[in-house]
Amino acid sequence: MSRTVYVNGDYLPEEEAKVSVFDRGFLFADGVYEVTSVLGGRLIDFEGHARRLQRSLAELEMKAPVEANELLEIHRELVTRNGIEDGLIYLQVTRGAADRDFAYPAADTEPTLVLFTQAKPGLADSPAAKTGIKVISIPDRRWGRRDIKTVQLLYPSMGKMMAKAAGCDDAWMVEDGQVTEGTSNNAYIVKGNAIITRHLGTEILHGITRAAVLRFAREAQMQVEERPFTIEEAQGADEAFITSASAFVMPVVEIDGTAIGDGRPGTVTARLREVYLDEMRKAAI
Ligand code: PMP
Repeated sequence: MSRTVYVNGDYLPEEEAKVSVFDRGFLFADGVYEVTSVLGGRLIDFEGHARRLQRSLAELEMKAPVEANELLEIHRELVTRNGIEDGLIYLQVTRGAADRDFAYPAADTEPTLVLFTQAKPGLADSPAAKTGIKVISIPDRRWGRRDIKTVQLLYPSMGKMMAKAAGCDDAWMVEDGQVTEGTSNNAYIVKGNAIITRHLGTEILHGITRAAVLRFAREAQMQVEERPFTIEEAQGADEAFITSASAFVMPVVEIDGTAIGDGRPGTVTARLREVYLDEMRKAAI
């Protein structure tokens, strides 16, 4: 069955949905996006994603395509029309279509707004959450404003391919000897009672899942250290994990061929995953 997608005000079968060849998202990667997960037909942390979208748009002086409450309605309508129980909703906004020119087009150029769904039955019961994933380290060769969630995903895409070629699941990126983040997730290690993850800045995306997980960790009296760490420190940690809106909290059991702890998902990671999923399901809208 064909999906229903949203394009600039219309709900259409995916085969009929069209964007201009002059769209700046296509020509310049001049666009931002968000991914919100759906569990039990409800949106997880929609507010957080809507807030980050506003920030990404503002940082790029891009016009918001619709009001926040309308965005929520579109998300819900797509969940209903596509019968999504568990899955993901992608939202893409670009600066719109204009004749090709590096300079931004006239301020009255209409932004392009596209939303589509991916059904992921059993999203929260992924087998990888029980076995953990393996990562390699690669140099971080992305641009300098990783705090803006842009559609420039070529290097992360290359990173996933490098991980695959090495028989692993993902890559952690390293800059100036320190881990920044995963290709599409934030990176953490656990040592004793401390959860260590890189501080916020322009070097990483400010994960919506990260914010929630660190809040739950602090509420559970765990010690949170927001600071950089090296691959060597990670390899000597008790546990490692990643977070993202699609993976939630996912254990990492191997880094560059070195097993973390006893090579199995750790108890702190498992607990954080459980608390995150419980609390977020309760607050889902
Ligand atoms: N870092 C990067 C580079 C990402 O692409 C993502 C996923 N969008 C994340 C971190 C995690 O962010 P979130 O928890 O908001 O999904």
